[in-house]
Amino acid sequence: MSTLDTTSPVMVTGATGYVAGWLVKKLLEEGFTVHAAVRDPANKNKVQHLDAIAQTAPGTIRYFKADLLDNGSYAEAMAGCGVVFHTASPFIVEFSDPQTELVDPAKLGTRNVLEQANQTPSVERVVLTSSCAAIYGDNVDQEQTPEGVFTEEVWNTSSNLQHNPYAYSKTVAEKEAWAINEGQQRWQLVVINPSLVVGPGLNPHATSASFDLVRQLGDGTMKAGVPHWGMGAVDVRDLAEAHFRAAFNPDAKGRHIVSAHNTSFQAMAATLLDTYGNSYPLPRRTLPKWLLWLVGPLANKAFTRPLIARNVGYDWTADNRKSLRDLDMQYRSLSESMHDMFQQLIDSGQLKPAKK
Ligand code: NAP
Repeated sequence: MSTLDTTSPVMVTGATGYVAGWLVKKLLEEGFTVHAAVRDPANKNKVQHLDAIAQTAPGTIRYFKADLLDNGSYAEAMAGCGVVFHTASPFIVEFSDPQTELVDPAKLGTRNVLEQANQTPSVERVVLTSSCAAIYGDNVDQEQTPEGVFTEEVWNTSSNLQHNPYAYSKTVAEKEAWAINEGQQRWQLVVINPSLVVGPGLNPHATSASFDLVRQLGDGTMKAGVPHWGMGAVDVRDLAEAHFRAAFNPDAKGRHIVSAHNTSFQAMAATLLDTYGNSYPLPRRTLPKWLLWLVGPLANKAFTRPLIARNVGYDWTADNRKSLRDLDMQYRSLSESMHDMFQQLIDSGQLKPAKK
């Protein structure tokens, strides 16, 4: 593809989401007509932040009702679009059936959206929001990588329905996307693999598990301490930029690790201590692995012993150079992302200062 059509409308699945919000904002500010595919266009709580942006931005937003599990439901939204951003997929920490609540919407939803792309002649490119979770399942997996770091060449082979089902859902969904892409010639697939996304939401009451995690740093859940658990992090605003460049840089291709920092849960919490440490019960200690192994599963059933054994005490390192080179990314500091998100949780009443 030598040039990409920047005049056609673009479609965004899951436009109500935390990650998609900043992408929709960017697209509207760049003057695009955005076809926002959402489950319930009438739910004002989910779309009013997008409407507010559209009121002053040069672009236009149009809503379409669609569900990942409803075959053919993206047809109307996709008609006439040059680029499809497929961001919708559940990122939730509480579920009772991982197959129906995580894997089916991720995998069958990807199939539904991409088979619709096969039937929509205007589509030139699909940008898929995958995850670093499609690259690794547990931190210990890093020891099995060719270079000792996570790269775009690596696939998650350690997750399944019982162990890390969210990571499993993202892995099977991305594989499904590549299989469908390889079955045709017209549209290109460009994949974004973000690490943990942090930073403020356009809707402060987002359902994304990113919010649960950062909220727990300030609500006392983790006041006794946090494990040494390596992870990557990227700001949601930078991630929107990465999606935009993946769509409109004609040379972008393949997977892209979009992760700004090789960090850890401890280090993320530590960025908040100077500003918020006196008023909020932020974790200050590192909990020993043996203690977590003993009591972790009793405190939280999702915190299983295999999860602790394979993640606690391990660093996390990913190679983000492809994103710097091919998407020309420049990443915000971790401190800026964490402060902006934590402050938003305070301002929106989701975090209250501890009583002295
Ligand atoms: P989010 O705010 O919860 O967004 C998820 C979106 O998916 C929502 O718009 C949701 O719609 C939609 N969705 C869920 N089930 C659906 C269904 N059956 N039919 C149609 N839409 C459905 O979470 P997020 O963090 O922004 O996640 C967005 C994407 O980024 C996901 O693909 C996720 O895997 C990926 N990602 C996130 C992170 C992270 O740290 N946040 C990291 C890596 C990758 P409703 O509003 O109707 O519920």
